[in-house]
Amino acid sequence: MSHEPTPPPPARAQLLQNLATATANLSGSSRVIPSGEDFYYYRNFDEFKLPIEEIAKQSQSMLESIGSSASLGMAFPKDLDLEDAYDWLVNVNDEVLERVDASVDEFKRSRNKEKEDDEGFQLVCGKKKKGDQTLSKDNKTSKPKVSFHVPSIRKPQEEFNILVNNSNQPFEHVWLGTGDDGHRFLHPLEKLSILDFIDDDIGGVEPVKPPEIEATPFKLVEEVKDLKELAAKLRGVNEFAVDLEHNQYRSFQGLTCLMQISTRTEDFILDTLKLRIHIGPYLREVFKDPSKRKVMHGADRDIVWLQRDFGIYICNLFDTGQASRVLKLERNSLEYLLHHFCDVSANKEYQNADWRFRPLTKEMVRYAREDTHYLLHIYDLMRAKLSSMPKESENSDAPLVEVYRRSYDICMHLYAKEVFTENSYLHIYGLQGACFNSQQLAVVSGLYEWRDVVARTEDESTGYILPNKTLLELAKQMPDTTNKLRRLVKSKHSYIEQHLSSVVSVIRHSMQNAAFLRLQPNI
Ligand code: AMP
Ligand code: ZN
Ligand code: MN
Repeated sequence: MSHEPTPPPPARAQLLQNLATATANLSGSSRVIPSGEDFYYYRNFDEFKLPIEEIAKQSQSMLESIGSSASLGMAFPKDLDLEDAYDWLVNVNDEVLERVDASVDEFKRSRNKEKEDDEGFQLVCGKKKKGDQTLSKDNKTSKPKVSFHVPSIRKPQEEFNILVNNSNQPFEHVWLGTGDDGHRFLHPLEKLSILDFIDDDIGGVEPVKPPEIEATPFKLVEEVKDLKELAAKLRGVNEFAVDLEHNQYRSFQGLTCLMQISTRTEDFILDTLKLRIHIGPYLREVFKDPSKRKVMHGADRDIVWLQRDFGIYICNLFDTGQASRVLKLERNSLEYLLHHFCDVSANKEYQNADWRFRPLTKEMVRYAREDTHYLLHIYDLMRAKLSSMPKESENSDAPLVEVYRRSYDICMHLYAKEVFTENSYLHIYGLQGACFNSQQLAVVSGLYEWRDVVARTEDESTGYILPNKTLLELAKQMPDTTNKLRRLVKSKHSYIEQHLSSVVSVIRHSMQNAAFLRLQPNI
């Protein structure tokens, strides 16, 4: 490798120019040369052999000039065979493109004078001022984004010794009793009726305006003693708002990272990674207690996450997302409800953040608190509206009853683990339109199974190990050497990059199996 000082900008521009010319010449000359068996046939004739040797010499010197480019430092190795030489050139090409990308990024960054959040989250687009924010759906692209994956985070599964059962067996709801047949799980709600949750008289209930976030006591719950204190507080109230933040990218089944709880007077954020095994024992009772109302927004996924991670099952839910549908509001997002009922512009850019990140930044805390802080107030206003809303028809339920019915149904859903079967791969998104032959299908099946086993053992999502799109691309191209595979995945998939030979052997075996099966029509 050469370590010459980086030339000043005009010299670098000249180098790039030379590089471009050399590459263009090389590819231009190679396209007209016969390949494969033809090549060796033609080489028997001097009319072909002599000029081709000349081209080879020139190519060699061009490759050397590309490689010796001071700013690249990737000298062309001697004595490479054709395939390796091609790989080398592709790598050089990738390197150049990556550098162009990086330079463009750097240029954009310096032009925008973007601030980097010193704790790991990088704002990719310009941050808008509060007053600037609109609720327009079409405005998504101009919104600031936050990194959804911070690769440097130590896996919480290791740090907090989180044990999960990723075996290819159905999830056991060990906190639920079973029915008469001993197989079906019984949700505590089955003993209750929706009517148990209908408020007798809400006419006299005055909506309670929440205090400003800044004026509200806040506690980050990271210690068991604080969790115990919170549980005692919740035993003393008859309603509280709940939300969860979750990470689905760096574990097989997903991990609940935070639980936010707001009472009428206080906000709490629980570190559910650190306190994972303690959450259930302290909070299971209040969540199950049918006399305590739980207010959540769009609780479908939260309900099953609570079951999976903490063995928590909810009775008495009011889902503001469902209420919004019954009220036929313009939109059903929390962002819209906050705007509509509380005149608050929520900052939803953190929704998709990497919630495993610790310590939480002040922006993350703010976002997480906003998700529950106003919910009880929204609930008051919605409940009042619902109770004065006329029925859809003579035979339909009252709107408020309809909201409790829907919320009840959401609570009744039970978490189910993803189960692998030998036909699972047929449902992969994008396979239908791919028109694969039997060999390519065998590679899809082989890679799918390999990915499933790896993801379960390493406790990673299948999307992290090998995204569907890449899996289909590999099945289409069937790279059967590590070099070909590396070239295909570029440097986008760190897991594959580190396990090239296992993946190649899966591909080869699948191809051989398919060929073998073709020769055995009776199998
Ligand atoms: P929320 O109920 O909006 O607080 O979202 C809870 C969790 O769902 C987040 O922590 C994310 O893990 C996930 N989530 C919500 N919205 C999105 C989205 N647009 N894209 C990806 N993940 C999301
Ligand atoms: Zn939520
Ligand atoms: Mn949330």
